[in-house]
Formats: sequence, structure tokens, C-alpha cells
Amino acid sequence: MNVSNSLLQDLCQVLPHLQPQIYFKSSLAALSHAIEDLILAGTDQPLVIANFQQERFYRQEISRYEKIAQYTDQVYVLAAPETDFGNASAPYATIAFAPDDELAQEWHLIVIGRQYSACVVCREHASPIDSASLDQARQFQGIWTFDPQVSIQAARLLLERIVAYRPELAPKIKQAQRRYRLLHESQVQASRSKVVELDLRLFVNRLVTYLQASQYKLLKAYSTIASKERKERLSNAIATAIRHSFNPNEILTITVTELGQVFSHCRCLLYRYQSDSPKEPIAYESTAAGLPSLKGEVWSLASHPLFQTALAQSQSNGENQSENIVIADITQDLGLQSHPDLKAQLVRWQVRACLLVPIHYQGIWVGMLELHHPEAHLWTEDDVALVEAIATQVGVALMQAQAYSNLETLNRQLVDLERTQSNLIAIVGHELRTPLSTIRVCLESLVTEPQMPPELQQMMLQTALEDADRLRKLIQDFITLSRLESGLMRWQLEPISLKEYLDLALSGLESHQKLPKIVVELPHYLPPIQVDGEGLIEVLTKLLDNACKFTHKTGEVIIRAHILNLEEVRGEPALGNILNKAVLKVTIADTGRGIEPSRLEAIFERFYQEEGFLQRTVGGSGLGLAICRRIIDNLGGKIWAESLGKDQGSKFHFTVPVAVPIT
Ligand code: ADP
Repeated sequence: MNVSNSLLQDLCQVLPHLQPQIYFKSSLAALSHAIEDLILAGTDQPLVIANFQQERFYRQEISRYEKIAQYTDQVYVLAAPETDFGNASAPYATIAFAPDDELAQEWHLIVIGRQYSACVVCREHASPIDSASLDQARQFQGIWTFDPQVSIQAARLLLERIVAYRPELAPKIKQAQRRYRLLHESQVQASRSKVVELDLRLFVNRLVTYLQASQYKLLKAYSTIASKERKERLSNAIATAIRHSFNPNEILTITVTELGQVFSHCRCLLYRYQSDSPKEPIAYESTAAGLPSLKGEVWSLASHPLFQTALAQSQSNGENQSENIVIADITQDLGLQSHPDLKAQLVRWQVRACLLVPIHYQGIWVGMLELHHPEAHLWTEDDVALVEAIATQVGVALMQAQAYSNLETLNRQLVDLERTQSNLIAIVGHELRTPLSTIRVCLESLVTEPQMPPELQQMMLQTALEDADRLRKLIQDFITLSRLESGLMRWQLEPISLKEYLDLALSGLESHQKLPKIVVELPHYLPPIQVDGEGLIEVLTKLLDNACKFTHKTGEVIIRAHILNLEEVRGEPALGNILNKAVLKVTIADTGRGIEPSRLEAIFERFYQEEGFLQRTVGGSGLGLAICRRIIDNLGGKIWAESLGKDQGSKFHFTVPVAVPIT
């Protein structure tokens, strides 16, 4: 006999009437456990031989076999060694067979007592399912029976193998053969007639219990898989939805809505994070029924301990440092004990468990996904992984949206550039040609008609001079704007008196023109401002020029200035966030032709002229306000226009920093 043969094959050769069938691993496990329980429940002291294929399967049953060894001294356990399984004799005999032995493919359990016998002899069968990942689906082919003749044959064959592997066990095995009448064929035959005194009720009960337990395990596995599958499907749905949108608002709304469906008992929040903004309103939320909404609440992130902890973790840059905050029960969380205010707030908002996962965009924190559970809740690894995956998707989608908006801006700039170019050509053509031809006509008349009366000659010269000056101004504006745009301008900031520079600008107004009435209403005392003098003169001159140009001579231009107070700063959106600076606001108001409210921003664009250059009745390049805005920006201020529309007059305001901070 070849000791490394399949036991199943050998047995079927000896007993050809046996008909092997297919069993799942879960059924064999239930069967084997029920048979082993018979040993533990009885007083029979049977012979027990168990082959576990591999050491790892045996490991799961060690304690069971230690118990069995307390009931009988004839226990033999076989397995192919993997780590430290070896030949031993106590508390029972272990036999480590060669890994290439066919026994490594088989599952055996043979029990022979005086009152009953049972045997399972099966061989691993190629499974149609990937059994490596689904252990319970492994299949075996073989037999199981209470027939003593089959059990005795199997025991005899297996004991021979054991002696071959461990000859020193021969006396003990002999003893077993004698005790259980395995020595002579006649005795084997005799046992055929033996009545099996088996407690069937006990066996069946046990078997059903084990089958039920394995079914329960299976159901649990199914439900885990089903919930995983559901989460994955939703995560994909979110990914698809947000990838199809370039609108950050839409992306974030979809994210919380879908997330709310997965975590249906939770409140899901999403808020943006900018390192320079200390407070963030909660703009995106989906809330489980019964939970109060936090939408619109303002997170003071600078003093939000959980947020700050996560931020600190991310900044510590430890490779394995997780930035997530996972709290299963806020009442038990030690970290929260030192923040009673936050804890009280969380209780008020019915937050018992929470999960915070940051959203990154090109390595920078751009927001946070926050889940609140009203009950104590153990967040599973899957939960965290899912929220992390969604946070990654959101980061990518935001990046995409940003890239798209950059592209749009670029596109707009290109269109602007194109318009600017054609405007430039048209304006240069018109604005240069018109004064040039006037100058030419005047000079030609003077040359060809020397008899011209002196008053007319004077008028011709005056006109030529004015147009030459118009040309000079136009060219000067081009040069100024191009220097401003290329960043070549050098600014010399120094304390300056607005009044002095205003007087200078007023004295430069073209006196020959019929100007409207100009009123200066400055407070008695104005602190010096910290600006570049030339830049300020340029701005004042251009604004005053415009005010006079677009106002009838019967109208009025009023110049005012005052230090801004806090309410005014808050009430003027154009000012943005300048709360901590002292600023002077200058206003040049006129009663002239006014500006359509929809054009109040457009007029600051280069070459903007409301009526188009061809219809102009007054000169100008359309560069004046563009120059003013760039200068004021460089001086650290803001400039904006105000008007109720046509013939309603206009107000141009600008701010500049005060030189000495006000105490
Ligand atoms: P321009 O050389 O054409 O005056 P600006 O850049 O100074 O160029 O002004 C752009 C446009 O803004 C003007 O063409 C005019 O339509 C409008 N604008 C500027 N100032 C006033 C004002 N005080 N009243 C009405 N419209 C004005």
C-alpha cells in the first residue's frame, strides 16, 4: 500500500458499494461537530481519528480536541504542518504528514466506540466558486455514515498510515486495534451485525444547531456584502453625478444628499474651509428626520476643538497619522472632556457620535465632511472608507470645477483682449486721426492764407494747440496704462494732505472750458493719507475731468471726503474686508448725465465708452477710469461708481489709507 494514497480511494476500493457525494464545507463542519459532540456527551471512550488537511484548519479546533482527549486516550490528529504543527503524544497523538501526501486534500473523522461508530471521509473537490475567498463554499466529495463496517475499514486504513509516519506509536495503535476489534477480518465482519446504539435525538439536535449557526453566519455575511454593495453603488452614483457637474454648488449639494441616503440616521454636513476665514457657515446639509437642522449655523473653526485637532493631525505630517476624527460616543470621549462648551453644544444638536473627514484639493484642506449620529454609534472601517472615498471624489470634482472656471475666465479674458485689440485699433485710428487732421487743416490755412485776419489766425492756432494737447493726453494715457499693467510703476508712499493735491488737480482743469460749478466740502481737519502723490493727482484729475466733461455747465460738481466709520465699512460691499484699517473716503459727485446702474462696473474696463467712440461729443480714450482703478488698487484702496441712471448724476468714490493710524 502506498501511504500517500487518497484514503477515500482506498476505502472505495475495499468497499465498492460506497457512493461518494458532494458536500459543502459548512455541512461537513456541522456534521463533524455533531459527531464530536456525541463523544463529549457519552461515556464510551471511543477511538477518534481526525485529519484536518492543513494545520490552519486544525488550529480552529484545538480546544475542542483537548476536551475530547479528557474523554478518551485514543485520539489521533493528522494535518500537513504549516508553522509549528509537529509529532506529539500528549494530550493526544498528533501526526504531521508530508505536505504532498494525498491526505492534505482530505477531511476525515472516524469515531469507533463500543456503542456506536461514525465516519466522515471526504476529499476536496474543485469548486466552481472562488473558494479561496469564500471558505464556506468549498466543496468536498466523499461519504459519511454510522455503518460500523465502513468506519472500521477507514480506521484500519488510517491507523496503518499513522504507524508508517510514527512507528513509535505502534504499541498504542495495537492496543486500539485490540480494544476496538480492528485486528482480524472476522471481527470486522462480526461488527457488521452490531446494533448501533446511537442517541439519534442528540445527534440530530446537534446537527440542526450547527446547521442553523452556519446559516446564521451566512446570512450575516450576505447582509454585510449587501450593505457594502449598496454603499459602493451610492459612492459610484455620487462620483458620476459630481463628475458631470462643473458647478461647485451643485457638486456639494449632491454630495450631502447622497451621503444622507447611505447614512440615513445621520446628519451630514459639508462646509468649506479657507485658512484666512475664521468662521464658516454650514451651507450644505442633509438631516435625518427628527434631527434639528444646522444649516446656516456658523462654525467658528478657529475655536472648534475637533476641527483643530484634525488640522493639527494633518499638519504634524506623520505618514500614518489619520486626519479623520472618529468618535463613537461623545459622553465617553476623553478628548472632549476639556471642552465642556462644545460638548454641551453637541448635546443640544443631538450629536452623540460623529465622524469628521477632511476634503483635500491639491494637498490643501478645502472643506470637511461631517456626520452626526443621534445615538452612540461605532463607525466601521467601511463607513470611514466610504466617507473618505466621497471626500476624495469631492476634492477631484472641486478641482475640476475650478479648472473649468479658470478656463472660462481665460476665455473671457481672450474675448476681452480681442475686443480691446479692435477697440484699440479703432480708437487709435479715430482719436489720432481726428486731431491730426484738425491740426493739419489749421496749419494749412495759416500757410496758404497769410491775409487771414489776426483773430481768425489766433483761433486756428488755438484749435491746433488744443488738438495737439488731446493727442498728447491720449498717448500719455496709453503709456501710463501699459506701465501700470506691466507693473513697471514705482510707487512712493508718503503722508500727503488731500487738500493740497485736490487744489493742484482743480487748478489743472481746463479753464477755457465752461465748467460747471465746483464745490469742495472737506471737513475742517483731515489726517494725512499714505499715498503716492503723482498717482493721487492722476486719479483726482481724471475723475474731476470726467465729472466736468459729463455735466452741463449749469450743473454742479461736489467734492467730499471723510474718515470711514465701521458701519459704513460694513454697509458697503465694494470695500470688502478692511475692518482693521483707518481709511479716508473721497467722493466726487456730479449732477450730470449719470450712468446706467448695469454699467457701473463696465466703465472701469479699458476703452469703455458708453456711446461708442464714433458717437462721442466729448473727447477721451476710454482709458481714464481703467487707469484710476489700477492706481487706487496699487495704493491699497477701492474705487467704485454710484448712479441712479440717465440724467441722475454720478458719484465716484475711492478710499485710501490714512497715514497715521487712528487711536
Ligand atoms: P473717457 O476717456 O471716455 O472719459 P473713462 O475711462 O474716463 O474714459 O470713462 C469711461 C466712460 O465712463 C465714459 O466714456 C463715460 O461713458 C463714463 N463716465 C465716466 N465718468 C462719468 C461721469 N462723471 N458721468 C457719467 N458718465 C461717466
